[in-house]
Amino acid sequence: MSQTTHNTKRFDTLLVANRGEIACRVMRTARAVGLRTVAVYSDADANARHVREADEAIRLGPAAARESYLKVEAVVEAARRSGAGAIHPGYGFLSENGAFVEALDQAGIVFVGPPASAIAAMGDKSAAKSRMANAGVPLVPGYHGDDQDDALLKAEADKIGYPVLLKASAGGGGKGMRVVEAAAGFQAALDGCRRESQAAFGDQRMLIEKYLTQPRHVEVQVFCDSHGNGVYLFERDCSVQRRHQKVLEEAPAPGMSEGLRREMGEAAVRAAKEIGYVGAGTVEFLLDIDGSFFFMEMNTRLQVEHPVTEMITGQDLVEWQLRVAMGERLPLAQDELTITGHSFEARLYAEDPEQDFLPATGTLTRFAMDLEGAGLDPARVRLDSGVETGDAVSMHYDPMLAKLIVHGDDRAQALATLNRALAALDVQGVVTNRAFLQRLATHPAFKACELDTRFIEKHEETLFAPRRYSIEEYAGAALVGLNQLARECESDSPWDRHDGFRVNAPHTIRIALCDPAHAQDDDDSEAVVVVEGTREDNAGPWHLTIGGETLTARLDPLAGDAVAMTLDGHRRRLQARRDGNVVVMVDPRGETRLFWRRIDAIDHGHHEAESTLTAPMHGTVVALLVEAGARVEKGMPLMVMEAMKMEHTMSAPADGHVASFHFQAGDTVGQGDVLLEFAPDE
Ligand code: ADP
Repeated sequence: MSQTTHNTKRFDTLLVANRGEIACRVMRTARAVGLRTVAVYSDADANARHVREADEAIRLGPAAARESYLKVEAVVEAARRSGAGAIHPGYGFLSENGAFVEALDQAGIVFVGPPASAIAAMGDKSAAKSRMANAGVPLVPGYHGDDQDDALLKAEADKIGYPVLLKASAGGGGKGMRVVEAAAGFQAALDGCRRESQAAFGDQRMLIEKYLTQPRHVEVQVFCDSHGNGVYLFERDCSVQRRHQKVLEEAPAPGMSEGLRREMGEAAVRAAKEIGYVGAGTVEFLLDIDGSFFFMEMNTRLQVEHPVTEMITGQDLVEWQLRVAMGERLPLAQDELTITGHSFEARLYAEDPEQDFLPATGTLTRFAMDLEGAGLDPARVRLDSGVETGDAVSMHYDPMLAKLIVHGDDRAQALATLNRALAALDVQGVVTNRAFLQRLATHPAFKACELDTRFIEKHEETLFAPRRYSIEEYAGAALVGLNQLARECESDSPWDRHDGFRVNAPHTIRIALCDPAHAQDDDDSEAVVVVEGTREDNAGPWHLTIGGETLTARLDPLAGDAVAMTLDGHRRRLQARRDGNVVVMVDPRGETRLFWRRIDAIDHGHHEAESTLTAPMHGTVVALLVEAGARVEKGMPLMVMEAMKMEHTMSAPADGHVASFHFQAGDTVGQGDVLLEFAPDE
């Protein structure tokens, strides 16, 4: 790092007091600027990616955050033991904890972040609003005074005009917050909010704001050094939220005029300077439909969504943080900062959108992104991840696994890249919101920039609608399933199967498919795909009939899980796999999951005068129901085979006896393999 006049804060070792993607991301830059890196970990993270990537790692304590990542003394002690001169807190955990910063000051360890006094100034919403008003930062019309008399608060609410929003002064994380639609509901809401706030924060003070009905969440990235310089690195739009949690973020905010951008940016820098801020900070504003904007709060740390700002400015914000922490001046002045192109970030969570976003756990059997295969430019796509294939996802911490960040020349190009990259993201073993992110990113209203903080709520019907499938999706699910069966059979040992010879008997297979969410329902919402074909190889050609339409189809395997499906000459590339009875197909249009509910095989029987029975599909022999040589009557079950976890029974084609079986229980069989020799009565 370059020469500086303030050498007192120099450090050569950085401890990162965090985990997951942000710990990995901070250490990446730390290494790049030549620092030694120290990770800390809880027992649940002893072998986590951030620990593996650090030069050194120190155990903090048991899995619970309270006993590890949130434990001030343990983190300070880890810095002492490792000789770290500075601590980067990441976001969450201790990042906005004033007592932690004071403890570091006393221990002579540099905190990569603002002074404790700046954290305290923004910690209380009412006090922060008073200071912001002093600094000329616009506030939502409202009341944030000390007098908490019921009648006075009610009079203030009436003056502001309904709907109003009651907020706990000491609040955070959406707690102690309520919308009051009309004067009649005010007192009850006030009482409720006070109780909630008392329980959560041990404090009952309330503030009142005008409730904006269609605001956007637009925040400004600011940076200050310890020499009194401050700049803004433009804005991010984070309007797509679920329960006040950001899901998709972008920079710059669509539709911002240069004038408004400067106005908001300058207001944000004034806000930071008012409280003696140093380092990276974010000033959050609500932007109303008429273009007026209001201060909401300041986050005194690096944000989750900082990469979109890095993408459009070409700056490394963690490097800026480290320089500022060492006492250097800001690397660039305001007029040296420019916006290039557009960037999106999507947060990948281990959670199930179909089950009210219930956090999911498990082992990541696969976590990969094939950029090359998807034709993506590595310079335009960034995956900030805290996990790799083989890692466990536990319930101890935030379920965010990774962030996918993309860049494009303009918004449309960036959004197209986001969709393509989401499709190329291959996550298996743990349920994620990947498909939900794709539905958001392909939503017409999102494409059209119809953004406000209630976006997800407003479009619930289309974002969570019962799935309708196209003919192509049904065809794909049938072919992929059959192809998977074939591959699974063929990857088995060849010695198991040489006693069967194969007849290219024409078979008809009927596959009933439905939405996996309705797999157990006894409803009519299924489609039947009829597949016919004399297969040359597993690829086809096949003749499909779906709901009265017929198609000619091929399915050619490509590298890994990728396949090329050709329907009536229309070829498309997709990632496809089988997950139990569910076929999963992903392409840039989205993810399709279809459940195989039933398979029936129709044996046309016009082969070799009923003296053999052949396998109608690839599968496994489950049981032989009679002995070789046994006499049977027409229609009697002889043998059970299984495919896609569904059983299929082979019955006697006529009265007669079984001459011999070619397979035993447990053997895999290929489609067309002769299963048994049959001797019909004369
Ligand atoms: P917390 O600190 O609990 O997260 P915030 O004050 O940051 O609370 O507000 C959280 C979210 O609530 C915002 O992102 C915004 O979506 C919504 N919100 C806050 N204030 C208002 C308001 N005056 N009008 C409309 N929505 C608001």
